[in-house]
Amino acid sequence: MKKLLVLTSLLSSACAFAQTQELNLYSARHYSTDEALYADFTKATGIRINRIDSDDAGLVARLKSEGAASPADVILLVDAARLHRLESDGLFQAIRSEKLDAAIPANLRSKPAPDGGSYWFGLSSRARVVVYDKATVKPEDVDTYEKLGDPRNKGRICIRSGSHPYNLSLFSAVSLHLGEPQAEAWLKGVVANLARAPKGGDTDQIRGVAAGECQIAVTNSYYLARLMRSDKPEDKAVVDKVAVSFPNQGSWGTHVNIAGGGVARHAKNRANAIAFLEYLATPQAQNYFANGNNEWPTARGIEVDNPALKAMSPRGFKSETIPVSSVAENQPKVQQALDRVGFK
Ligand code: FE
Repeated sequence: MKKLLVLTSLLSSACAFAQTQELNLYSARHYSTDEALYADFTKATGIRINRIDSDDAGLVARLKSEGAASPADVILLVDAARLHRLESDGLFQAIRSEKLDAAIPANLRSKPAPDGGSYWFGLSSRARVVVYDKATVKPEDVDTYEKLGDPRNKGRICIRSGSHPYNLSLFSAVSLHLGEPQAEAWLKGVVANLARAPKGGDTDQIRGVAAGECQIAVTNSYYLARLMRSDKPEDKAVVDKVAVSFPNQGSWGTHVNIAGGGVARHAKNRANAIAFLEYLATPQAQNYFANGNNEWPTARGIEVDNPALKAMSPRGFKSETIPVSSVAENQPKVQQALDRVGFK
């Protein structure tokens, strides 16, 4: 009997040990470079990563149905609005980490929790840029977002659905910068300037410019970078025809969004989860993480190591400094404005 007890306690301590060496990661990112990143983390720490991959909506649905029984420790999502939504749903817990606070600028994290911690951290960033036909559009026609609503650009613009999170985020930022009435007038102007009804994703808008269906496209930077790094002749032909503008360099800066993550509300491996997020903010991991999707690192003072991004903005660019959490929070109001101006 005594032997059995000893064996049981040995087993349970072995289990406890095994448990501390694990991490359950729910990820909406699927890049091969991420695999190498996770393998390096396991090699350095001995913490094994069990990954659940899904798209953002799938992860959120899963977390909600699992509730307090969820095995999730770290959740990685794309877009501040989705991170913010998860925070509002109570699916993150706030953590305090000197390393993360030192590495990640405050405007690229959640609003501070009551105890001063953060619910989520931006780990890579993307700019919402304007791609245009070099032959017919002058750089000064597209050097601000405001000009997308200017009559000079009538019939020229290709853009995906107004209520896609990427556009809601851009319009929300514009609204915070200009004020609501002016932003709504601007949105009306953008709708009046569309070359065609919104359809497809960001890459389709860039291709629309190359095909002559429109002259101006709004896109996240990494879609253009992907085309720039492609070996396919048809992609090279697209890239040859277009130029890129980082809008509002003379005012509030180009709109940026993030991909990022936080510790799950019911994390069983909390310390490992924090260690993993801290690892993702280290210089080496930052470059891997950002390059996986041709994005910029968010951590301070890191050299960008991506040929397409360097070619796109050789001297870097001025990005807006308004908190991404405020931009995310403002989105429901923007959706109402879109409905009023008929931006589908
Ligand atoms: Fe995307």
